Amino acid sequence: MTANEIRKAFLDFFASKGHTIVPSAPIVIKNDPTLMFTNAGMNQFKAIFLGEETLKFTRAVDTQRCLRVSGKHNDLEEVGIDTYHHTMFEMLGNWSFGDYFKKEAIAWSWELLTEVYKIDKSRLYVTYFEGDEKEGLEKDTETYNFWKEFVAEANILPGNKKDNFWEMGETGPCGPSSEIHYDNRPDSERALVDGATLVNGDHDQVIEIWNNVFMQFNRLKDGSLQLLPAKHVDTGMGFERLVRVMQGKTSNYDTDVFQPMISFIAERSGKKYNSAVKPGREGWNEAVAMRVLADHIRAISFAIADGQLPSNNKAGYVIRRILRRAVRYSYQYLEFKEPFLNQLVPLLAEQFKRVFDNLYDQKDFVQKVVLEEEISFLRTLLSGINRFNQMTSVFATAQTVVNGDGTQIHTPYKNVVSGKNAFELSDTYGFPLDLTELMAREKGWQVDVKGFNEALQQQKTRSRAATAIDTGDWVVLKDDDTVEFTGYDETESIAHIVKYRKVKAKGTEQYQIVLDKTPFYAESGGQVGDKGELVFPVGEVIYVTDTKKENGLIVHFTDKLPEDIDDALTAIVDPALRNRTNSNHSATHLLHAAMKQVLGAHVNQKGSLVNSDYLRFDFSHFAKVTDDELAQIEAIVNQKVRENIPLKEERSVLYAEAITSGVTALFGEKYGEYVRVITFDDEFSKELCGGTHVKATGQIGFFKIISESAVAAGVRRIEAITGIAAEDYIIAQNKLVQHLKELLKNPKDISKSVEALLEENSKLKKEIEKSVLEKSAGLKNELAEKAEQINGINFIAQKVQLPNADAIKNLAYQLKDIVSDLFLVLAAEIDGKPSLTVMIAENLVKEKNLNAGAIVRELAKEIKGGGGGQPFFATAGGSDISGLDKALEKAKSFVA
Ligand code: ATP
Ligand code: MG
Repeated sequence: MTANEIRKAFLDFFASKGHTIVPSAPIVIKNDPTLMFTNAGMNQFKAIFLGEETLKFTRAVDTQRCLRVSGKHNDLEEVGIDTYHHTMFEMLGNWSFGDYFKKEAIAWSWELLTEVYKIDKSRLYVTYFEGDEKEGLEKDTETYNFWKEFVAEANILPGNKKDNFWEMGETGPCGPSSEIHYDNRPDSERALVDGATLVNGDHDQVIEIWNNVFMQFNRLKDGSLQLLPAKHVDTGMGFERLVRVMQGKTSNYDTDVFQPMISFIAERSGKKYNSAVKPGREGWNEAVAMRVLADHIRAISFAIADGQLPSNNKAGYVIRRILRRAVRYSYQYLEFKEPFLNQLVPLLAEQFKRVFDNLYDQKDFVQKVVLEEEISFLRTLLSGINRFNQMTSVFATAQTVVNGDGTQIHTPYKNVVSGKNAFELSDTYGFPLDLTELMAREKGWQVDVKGFNEALQQQKTRSRAATAIDTGDWVVLKDDDTVEFTGYDETESIAHIVKYRKVKAKGTEQYQIVLDKTPFYAESGGQVGDKGELVFPVGEVIYVTDTKKENGLIVHFTDKLPEDIDDALTAIVDPALRNRTNSNHSATHLLHAAMKQVLGAHVNQKGSLVNSDYLRFDFSHFAKVTDDELAQIEAIVNQKVRENIPLKEERSVLYAEAITSGVTALFGEKYGEYVRVITFDDEFSKELCGGTHVKATGQIGFFKIISESAVAAGVRRIEAITGIAAEDYIIAQNKLVQHLKELLKNPKDISKSVEALLEENSKLKKEIEKSVLEKSAGLKNELAEKAEQINGINFIAQKVQLPNADAIKNLAYQLKDIVSDLFLVLAAEIDGKPSLTVMIAENLVKEKNLNAGAIVRELAKEIKGGGGGQPFFATAGGSDISGLDKALEKAKSFVA
């Protein structure tokens, strides 16, 4: 079976058991503060497990793009070294939401593996949770008994909490699990060593392929376990590992999932891929590098396609680091000195066509982003190598260290890259420690790894202290988790608090409050969260400073809690702010549509911000948007504003239907089965959107673009304003013109009169230059005559009147040409400040050991200043004009 057939067989099998096939969620997570990337199939269903959301079906099946490179599940360091951990991988999963449980899950997984995929039963081992006394959790005998119906007892093994109690992160849904492992060793080896002893023992041919998790708890902040409202099944099978088993390979990279990529890399690098080579042997580094490239390009490409651009912080930094790791391997071991990684993108996109179309649809964009990142890292890589060479250019010598008690020790001769330096290479140049170590080894140096780790730890502590957030557990008042959002229809609703918690960040305390009903829009889709008030019957008013989404909840941020927490309250959104935000949001839709008309259909939203002040729109486009194009875009939007098009809002359209009707959907956005469609004129703008909008476009008033710029490779940004802000902007511009007019004495045509002024100015400049030249020519002769013969030196020290430093310098050089053995000091007043210039003939500099730089510094003391220059020419400035004469007098002492 090919990989595509294997994937399809999984989905079809569970569809035949009543499961709805759902699409993969994006790999980048937006609404969960505890997680940056999807690390398991269950992430997109977290709110359902927690009871915060419900679905229209209770059984689902999918293949989920996962990324395990940060947080609790981080496999990055294994990737490429072993043959079965990837950064990005597909997790096949079947799901029961409060429907079937252990019995069916176990029976079906066995049926699929042994009857559909026909995997050899004797090579399969299954596990069950052995219990954990500390947590008060019992042995999972149920699971054991269900397995016993199909599996030989010798192949059913107990597993500990680490392997058989699955948790998403520090907090969140969790439960006991049952793994399925596959023993891929040849029969001869199997006869010698029992496979059961190798399960969960990091053997590269006895690997876990599937984990069935029986979700029943929620892990709270204090570490305790709370029963979930219902019991669920959450399973995850590593697709690439399954394909390896099915295709009879000893490495995931030998399957048709990775082979096209590996062959391409091998061919382009002119090196052979040796799948079986052992660590330390010839070809090992090259094999690891090829695996790293073939793997990492998947993580990078899918993250970018899902909207996460490489950057300097958070999720963006994780992606940048993966990319650098790949570039480093390809540079170092495959000798790609020019960008190469980006060339893998089209290949990957083709491979995932019709599986994950989001990559294919944006392949040019993704490739461009990867290319730019590569170019910039290859540049730092070079300067990093230079910096490294600098650090290792000074050889250490044997040292004598005096101890506190006066005794001496001799440290042996040793060259060590200090921890601080190794950290600088990592922090500033993106060099992972192992790269620094390798480069050091090549030079016969060592790296102070302990010092590096300390420096790293210090930085972590610093950044953790800066961002530490201490989130308390929810205090639940009403056990009803369905939150009703009323904000599309009203800005005031009567509500009750259902739960709240305390949050500490950067020394301040805040509260987060969830209401059963709320008009407050929670930040999402680029639109900021609403601000407003919670008004209580006793007259108490609590200000809501922000509103955010967390999984299925709408969370209101406040500085305090009300006196009477059980009272009904009126939740009131600040209407003025909301109206301005609505205008900016609707204008964003009009802008997006206008841009597609003017610039082309390739324009896709890559990020947006909508608040009450302005709107910011990032989009994929490879060139600067010209002034002319901007004017056209603006004109279209304002035309649509004047048409006063009424808002058409459809709250519940089938996603598939919406897409066929031609709505604009965003990449990297997770859409459910039903979506909300916002239309301004069926022929013009139709977008999937959860935000709030004007009732008709006329409310926008006026639209004005205020800037266009680049934000990243292939991504540009437009900032614009609407309504009152746009009006204020025009008024300010108008005032500026008015003021200019007054300065110019109210001419009829300001442009003309400014042009005339500029022309006159340049004419005057030329005239001044000419007269200065004439003047200094006269001065030259005058000064030459004043030269005094002292000890074979022609000494001139004079005050001159010239308008700038250039003119004085010119004069000095001219004098040097006509006066031999010259020692010249010129004093002048330039723009109210004293200045000194010293010029000494080169022969004097040598013969008499005179130095203009040193002399001018000495003289400058008289004018309370300083300066310097070369031995034959130097200048100084100061602050005390009255000292100029003294300085000239003093000059003589250098020749007398
Ligand atoms: P392992 O112990 O091998 O790292 P795990 O216990 O971390 O696996 P789970 O969290 O249970 O794995 O994930 C479910 C399945 O996903 C695993 O059985 C495995 O097939 C697959 N899987 C997990 N991590 C990776 C990875 N980094 N790359 C590829 N597949 C993976
Ligand atoms: Mg793991």
